[in-house]
Amino acid sequence: MRYIFLVFISFSLSFADAHIFVYHRFGDSRYPSANTTKEQLIQQFEYLKEHNYKIVPIEKILTNIKAHKDIPNNWVALTIDDGYKSFYDNGLEIFKKYNYPFSVYVYVQATTQRYGDYMSWKQLKEISKYGTVGLHSYAHPRLQNLTNKEIIDDTKKAYDIFVKKMGYTPKIYVYPYGEYDPRVKKILTDNFDFEAILNQNTGSVTKNTDIKDIPRVAVIGRSNIKYKLRYKTFNVKWHEPNVFPKNGILKRISANVDPKYNSLKLYITGEGWRDINVTNGLIDQTLNIYLKNTRTRVLLGPDIFTVSNHLINKSKLNKGVKQ
Ligand SMILES: [Zn+2]
Repeated sequence: MRYIFLVFISFSLSFADAHIFVYHRFGDSRYPSANTTKEQLIQQFEYLKEHNYKIVPIEKILTNIKAHKDIPNNWVALTIDDGYKSFYDNGLEIFKKYNYPFSVYVYVQATTQRYGDYMSWKQLKEISKYGTVGLHSYAHPRLQNLTNKEIIDDTKKAYDIFVKKMGYTPKIYVYPYGEYDPRVKKILTDNFDFEAILNQNTGSVTKNTDIKDIPRVAVIGRSNIKYKLRYKTFNVKWHEPNVFPKNGILKRISANVDPKYNSLKLYITGEGWRDINVTNGLIDQTLNIYLKNTRTRVLLGPDIFTVSNHLINKSKLNKGVKQ
């Protein structure tokens, strides 16, 4: 009996999965596809409190990843993209009431040029008493469509203004639209000293998560967070696809996985789920699927909650540009 108990414990620890939520607007009914009402936010925070989730600053999760230390299942970090003013007006008071830390990522052009819906630098400084502030590009471009130089220029411009206005260097970068590809990631990693880069691929965070490619779960409107907290990481070494195919045809899937599986579930945007065979830890199958969506997700795992979430984005760059 004791033996079974110990096995159970070690199994659960080795699959420790924390979650990072991403919010956009609060109490702003003009934009239902990006909004969380005050009532919905309070309901979610009550759920987290009642079920003993520990709301930690995202930096605490980064510390564990860097130390390769297990991240408890009950840790949740809360992030907010774009720096909308509705957070300042409607969200902040609720975060303060629950004493929940948060991290806001600034769309620098919108803040600097005082677009109507965005917080000012003064407001960002004020909220940084309760949370942290990071970077979310200058012009909010789809980075995969920019040349290497354009990616560096946009990021450098955002970085320099951020340092001047906030008085410190941004530690975390968040991809605009959650869109990127291996080239974009490499350019940002090679040219800037961000501690972490966050995407928007639904999933969990473990000690093995790539600190420059951290998944976050989008929470919008009536999102059922109980369901979202079930996501777990499935480790996959992807070989193909790696980038969006130039002719739009996904020829094959190739990946290494835990050899204990004989079959897994594969999801491709526009195609739905299908079963796929695994032989000695290797998946290698011809597909020849025409990808209809420029933003295609390829998910692989034993069940729909335990997945590797792989995003491939079509780039508008000329075919001659090296990816
Ligand atoms: Zn954004």
